[in-house]
Amino acid sequence: MGYVYATSACFGCGRIFSYNPNKVPSVRVKDEREPICADCVVRANPVRIKNGLEPIVVLPGAYEPCEENEL
Ligand SMILES: [Zn+2]
Repeated sequence: MGYVYATSACFGCGRIFSYNPNKVPSVRVKDEREPICADCVVRANPVRIKNGLEPIVVLPGAYEPCEENEL
């Protein structure tokens, strides 16, 4: 059994980070899911709440590898 990480640049800050592609928080940009790193979630949530939006909920394991068979 293998483990899989997805790695790409965060949409918010541009930092390369690794995540579980099934669980990572993301925003929709032009019908693409753009992943958001943990730091940006922390930064974005107070702004979202102020604007009357639901805060982004980070699922357990969102920034950990997922099992190969979950893909
Ligand atoms: Zn970020």
